[in-house]
Amino acid sequence: MTNIAKNIERLSDRLRRLERQYERSAASVQLLAVSKRHPVQSIIAANKAGIVDFGENYLQEALDKIQHFSSMHLNWHFIGPIQSNKTKAIAENFQWVHSIDRFKIAQRLSDQREPSTAKLNVCVQIKLCDETNKSGVELSKAEALCDSVDALPNLKLRGLMAIPAAVPDLESQRRTFRVLAQEYDRLKPRYAQFDTLSMGMSNDLEAAIAEGSTLIRVGTTIFGPRS
Ligand SMILES: *Cc1c(COP(=O)(O)O)cnc(C)c1O
Repeated sequence: MTNIAKNIERLSDRLRRLERQYERSAASVQLLAVSKRHPVQSIIAANKAGIVDFGENYLQEALDKIQHFSSMHLNWHFIGPIQSNKTKAIAENFQWVHSIDRFKIAQRLSDQREPSTAKLNVCVQIKLCDETNKSGVELSKAEALCDSVDALPNLKLRGLMAIPAAVPDLESQRRTFRVLAQEYDRLKPRYAQFDTLSMGMSNDLEAAIAEGSTLIRVGTTIFGPRS
């Protein structure tokens, strides 16, 4: 077994344990493997271990990988900041985008998505009261942005995402994630296909699961440190 396969097995066991510990239903937390700055060999190893969902931040690197794996049925998630001049390639090549924080970007993605293909699944990224991360819409503007994204014809609004500032202790991590989870619960009845709370990374996934995450985005714990 490769190290990556072992890491995935250990992580999956841990996920199932955390689901029980925090009274989440079995398999209610999905795993997105964040493969940014890792080579295609690492993606192959993860795929052999059962992973089909991969997250990428850098467009050109991602496009090379998507091209490389074009004969396989992998789901590609764009999770990084989006500049306007990148929306066409994202709309044409990804299944998911987690980092919508302005209407203009959402509108371009919808306009550039081929209507005959499946809709592009999107999450709105929320900024959770910290100065370190400039991405994300403010909480007070989340509902208005979600309403306008939900009205776009070629996008499917699936939920919310956030990247909180790194803090070491579980309780402060949980407090921050709770803010996002409460907004998610409040907005959920408004949108037909709202089922994804994208929160939790290698260092805060336990807190995220405790607070109701449905999808954790994990890089380092699966693939090791990035080059
Ligand atoms: C890099 C990245 C991750 C993965 O982070 P790790 O700490 O390596 O697990 C998750 N989400 C986003 C948006 C990222 O950019």
